[in-house]
Amino acid sequence: MKPEICPFCGEKRLEELEPTEIMVDNSLWVIHHYECQFCTEVFDKIIPEGELEYDIDEEADIYGDTDEKRFRN
Ligand SMILES: [Zn+2]
Repeated sequence: MKPEICPFCGEKRLEELEPTEIMVDNSLWVIHHYECQFCTEVFDKIIPEGELEYDIDEEADIYGDTDEKRFRN
């Protein structure tokens, strides 16, 4: 969800910068960066997402990894 106003000055002139995607515990977190065009403050909004979607894949990956490691060792 895009923030409407700058938390520093309350102006509505926000510019969305390039988001950063990181993996945390097999979940994709998207960090959105916003720059206020009025006071030039930059703030982040972190959105954890894809938790439900990854549940099934995660289980499959765990079993796949275990088998692979067993063969390697
Ligand atoms: Zn501002």
